[in-house]
Amino acid sequence: MVLAVARRHECHFAVLGGGTSPFKGASVADQGITIDLQRMRDVEFADGLDLRISVGGGARWADVYQTLDPKNMSAVGTRNSLTGGISFFSEHHGWACDSAVEFEVVLADSTVIKATQYANADLFWALKGGGNNFGIVTRIVLEVFRDPPRWYTFQLFNLGDLFTVFKRLENHTNTMIPHVWQIATTFGWHDPTQRFVISERMVASEQIELPDHVLRQAPDGTWEKSAVLQTNVYERPILSMAQKMDVMNAEGFYNFFGSVTVSSNAELLLALARVFQNEIDPIRDAKGLQVYIVYNPITVNAMNQMKKRGGNALGLLSENGPLTVVNINLHWSHKADETRMRKFMRQLIHRFRETASEMDMLNPYVFQNHAFEEQDVFSGYGAKNLAQLKDTRQKVDPDAVFQRLQPGFFKLEPKLTTAVEIKSEL
Ligand SMILES: Cc1cc2nc3c(=O)[nH]c(=O)nc-3n(C[C@H](O)[C@H](O)[C@H](O)COP(=O)(O)OP(=O)(O)OC[C@H]3O[C@@H](n4cnc5c(N)ncnc54)[C@H](O)[C@@H]3O)c2cc1C
Repeated sequence: MVLAVARRHECHFAVLGGGTSPFKGASVADQGITIDLQRMRDVEFADGLDLRISVGGGARWADVYQTLDPKNMSAVGTRNSLTGGISFFSEHHGWACDSAVEFEVVLADSTVIKATQYANADLFWALKGGGNNFGIVTRIVLEVFRDPPRWYTFQLFNLGDLFTVFKRLENHTNTMIPHVWQIATTFGWHDPTQRFVISERMVASEQIELPDHVLRQAPDGTWEKSAVLQTNVYERPILSMAQKMDVMNAEGFYNFFGSVTVSSNAELLLALARVFQNEIDPIRDAKGLQVYIVYNPITVNAMNQMKKRGGNALGLLSENGPLTVVNINLHWSHKADETRMRKFMRQLIHRFRETASEMDMLNPYVFQNHAFEEQDVFSGYGAKNLAQLKDTRQKVDPDAVFQRLQPGFFKLEPKLTTAVEIKSEL
């Protein structure tokens, strides 16, 4: 109904899911219609065998985990809302979209259809990575699993151990240690103490032995022991972490995300950390600054899981793996700083790409959930996938309603969006 009104009056609109995307206008339409899905947050089992759940299109992962956690079950979610991708559980189950079994979608002409591997299979494939270009997803049926990993660990290392920590990440990405389901490394600027910090977190199905020191090579080539600064181990924290996400997304901050995908190579990851250290000076005095990089591996196992149910549209091929998705997170508290933050993010992404290219380790894939609004996400999916996404868009939305009237977030055909913006300005 709301969609029909927007269509008839050529009024621009946005669909609000979890609302965490920092892309301006992605989920809220200033002076347009915002379709808020927050009342569609129900979660219920979809079959008698408890193998699938049916989830409303506006649900948060906390809603899902609240249902599953007491049954010692879980789903491949992210820490936040339903459009996320990289999960604690990707090593064994792929990304979040790979667990989708069925999407219920409201198309541009207001018809409601279901897309599965067997019915409307082209749309089902396109929705697994194609973003908000096809319709409004009002319900998703997801595969769930039993006995999720229960241990979550966090370790903080000395700055001098950067290379050693990146080498650990590279090694674990190539051959995941037994019982570990996820590993990620974070390198960032800690504003309260005015210093850089490096940390590693893991999700594991059994308690794993964590080092109390790492070895690092001194300039003279000898090896020395370096103590781990902090170790935290949590049991079954996933539900409470998902519940805390709203706190982490606290109001009063401005954010930009950025993302680059590279080979899993410790020398390169270190080179990117050095670039980051060199580029941060122009923004270091900004009020409320939080800036950090999260290095997320995409293992070959995770990529193989992406082939399930006809595969997804992301264009991540296991023969090119393993890869590392390098996500940049930038938060600040004064609106006046926006211009220099934009410049910083643009420059950092450029320098990351340049550095990885020089080492012949840049992958064209851009992780949509964390991309900067100026990045070209869909070219990175590969020409064939992009053409297939556009064909599906043409089939399900021949008038390009979701391109023209819903300008926010990453568009398959940005030129169509621009045309409407000019028209409405005239
Ligand atoms: C603290 C934090 C932690 C995060 N952790 C992770 C993580 O672990 N893994 C990961 O992959 N990502 C992560 N992200 C990124 C986050 O998952 C993405 O930003 C995600 O795309 C946001 O989804 P949302 O529904 O909140 O966004 P929104 O801003 O509501 O939506 C993003 C776009 O999708 C559209 N959309 C949303 N729902 C629907 C729907 N049902 N139908 C049609 N269109 C829709 C919106 O219109 C909008 O254009 C994190 C983000 C934050 C802030």
